[in-house]
Amino acid sequence: MISATGNPKIKAGFDPAVPGFINIELNDIALLEKTIDAETAAIMLEPVQGEGGVNLFSSEFIQKVRELCDRNNLTLIFDEVWTGCGRTGRWFAHQHFRRSDGSVILPDIMTLGKAVGGGLPVGVMFAKTELAKLLVPSTHGSTLGGNAICMAASRTIFDVIEREKLLNNAATLGEFAMSRLQNDPKLAPKVANIRGRGLMIGIELKDAPDKIVEKGLERGIVLNLTASKVIRLAPPINISRDLWEQGLDAVVSALTA
Ligand SMILES: *Cc1c(COP(=O)(O)O)cnc(C)c1O
Repeated sequence: MISATGNPKIKAGFDPAVPGFINIELNDIALLEKTIDAETAAIMLEPVQGEGGVNLFSSEFIQKVRELCDRNNLTLIFDEVWTGCGRTGRWFAHQHFRRSDGSVILPDIMTLGKAVGGGLPVGVMFAKTELAKLLVPSTHGSTLGGNAICMAASRTIFDVIEREKLLNNAATLGEFAMSRLQNDPKLAPKVANIRGRGLMIGIELKDAPDKIVEKGLERGIVLNLTASKVIRLAPPINISRDLWEQGLDAVVSALTA
């Protein structure tokens, strides 16, 4: 997976990389068509890019990706490690991608991690039957994989998300935050763009901020700067409205200090 990333910082020091990965800009259909050739096996993407700076795909682009995969017999892989389990206001972020008839655009493989274990180490790969048949128990083992405590925790996560209506919480608080941030006159001069889905929000600044992590900590919040100019907001999806509002006030205060 280190070989797959387009971020050189993550790759540095881990040579030799697995060869064959080509990274391209998102939402550029012409470039994508040009890049696919007889050697191409799969297309992999994060439905919302996390480390890349909370970058959103257009439905048109994803629709085209799906078409190209179908036409050329390529495997479409959605990495939902960050975006899955409710973060974007749906169970999985790819459920935001729709064809004109309203149907969801599905991957052939989907991966989950992080939230799927609720703090315990769990990673999941789903695959369509014909692909799943290629990887059966013992073809790719892991000493501590599939242990009962982690699996019980992971199963519980899904029950809790459903019972506590956390998809709805993520969607509602995400929309609230977008309009709260977009309509703040103090923030406007600093900001190039605000984008997001559910509780995965990126505030792209015009200039790289100075000492922003320290300014956040002084105000009781941990801020994360990604792609050098993007503040990424991703609170737990069970956050209360009250706490989220306080947090957003602190974000604005840190960014305008
Ligand atoms: C964290 C992360 C990974 C790595 O997941 P592991 O479970 O640590 O292997 C992969 N993809 C994305 C998008 C991530 O955010």
